[in-house]
Amino acid sequence: MAESKRDEMERILKLQRSVFTANRPEEMSKRVDRINRALTLLKTHAEEFAKVMAADFGSRSIQQSILTDIAATVSVGQYSLKNMSKWTKSEKRKVQFPLGLLGAKAEVRYEPKGVVGILSPWNFPVNLAFSPLMQIFAAGNRAMIKPSEFTERTSLLMAELVTEYFTPDELAVVTGGPEVAAEFSSLPFDHLVFTGSTPTGRRVMEAASANLVPVTLELGGKSPVFMGRSADLTRAGERIALGKMMNAGQICLSPDYMIVPEDMEDEAIAGVSNAASAMYPTVLHNDDYASIVSDRHFDRLQEVVADARDKGAEVIEVNPANEDFSNTNARKMPLTILRNVEDGMLAMQEELFGPVLPVKTYRNIDEAIDYVNANDRPLGLYYFGEDKAEQEQVLTRTISGGVTVNDVIFHISMDDLPFGGVGPSGMGSYHGVEGFREFSHARSVYHQPKIDIAKLGGFKPPYGKATDKALAGLLK
Ligand code: NAD
Repeated sequence: MAESKRDEMERILKLQRSVFTANRPEEMSKRVDRINRALTLLKTHAEEFAKVMAADFGSRSIQQSILTDIAATVSVGQYSLKNMSKWTKSEKRKVQFPLGLLGAKAEVRYEPKGVVGILSPWNFPVNLAFSPLMQIFAAGNRAMIKPSEFTERTSLLMAELVTEYFTPDELAVVTGGPEVAAEFSSLPFDHLVFTGSTPTGRRVMEAASANLVPVTLELGGKSPVFMGRSADLTRAGERIALGKMMNAGQICLSPDYMIVPEDMEDEAIAGVSNAASAMYPTVLHNDDYASIVSDRHFDRLQEVVADARDKGAEVIEVNPANEDFSNTNARKMPLTILRNVEDGMLAMQEELFGPVLPVKTYRNIDEAIDYVNANDRPLGLYYFGEDKAEQEQVLTRTISGGVTVNDVIFHISMDDLPFGGVGPSGMGSYHGVEGFREFSHARSVYHQPKIDIAKLGGFKPPYGKATDKALAGLLK
């Protein structure tokens, strides 16, 4: 009888954990070798991956894929190789006076957790599986990946290549749909990283809780763009358009909506729309511009726009070549700017995850800050402007996973900065030393001196005068 997916996953997990346990302590060179093999896999098969991603999306630029899914991931791997000997050093910690004088010692050792599960989404299907993997390996773990069913060809290629470069006790890929994903999230891993939507993140955490598996949740949200009065609207427009239209807006950190001074709205919209037209003079048959990944997501975006229009928003389609989008099944959608939006519209309720850009206005920056604070804490937050006091006001009065000032998205590309959300946009992070620590167990080790500390301190029964004296000292 064929093995069920559940049995297959349990078998791999058991194998990985037993080999992990048997091989401890493992030399650092093994970790380095695994990262190097992951890097070779990515670099050798970059074109192949880009081609299958294009096929999965319908249209996705080969160059963009190599940039976002291969080069960006390679960067995390190289950064890990460069820093891991520093990260893995155990740290001396202080012991309370006078224990140090008596020979006590304390240290923290960063040890591998064991087997880490990775559940990854379709929007950057290679990057969001392999970037966490680099730091999972750096920390000395083994891993199992369940990539997205929406980018099936990419997932199959990943599964095939992983068997070529890794033994199943080091790294394995399990493919399948949401049922397999749900089973995967219920396995007793030593850690689980999930990247995807907030609703699915909730289910993942619930499933993981049955085994008390610690989770890193990389989720989404409505990342706002604050346009300050001092912003250069042309430059801001170029940067927002680039960030909003890359991967057709299907980026967790994509600028979700703009919030602009009331009297600068026209100019701010013109800045974005002119930049979009310059980068994508045509949309429909333009290979630089990605398709929406599936009919379901495409229909959802059409519904968001129709709902906004029905409820009174002005809909501005940035369609410089006047192309007819009505009779195509290419799932291409032009940048669609929404004006006069209200909270009752779907566009202001859910993460857009596509090329739709609502614009809200404010009279006073406090109004904009209050609006953002009244909603879920976002993954990213962007401020454009040269007014440092206002910038600090926005930063110190809001909360978000991360921030880019005078651009969008870029903070994720800084390898040395932790990347993650807060509240509904996620928990935990990777990249930076924080990523290494996320996948490590900070193990406290205390060395007791020969001398009987308990007796010396008066804490050994029978309790008496010495104890009272010691307690009085402690409570002084
Ligand atoms: P999704 O939540 O629909 O699916 C992600 C993964 O979860 C898929 O592999 C799927 O198989 C799996 N899954 C589905 N049902 C499951 C269940 N019941 N239990 C466990 N796993 C299940 O997300 P998506 O549509 O693939 O991706 C889009 C979302 O991901 C957006 O919200 C976006 O913001 C977010 N995202 C976040 C980051 C980040 O790093 N923070 C990066 C990319 C995308």
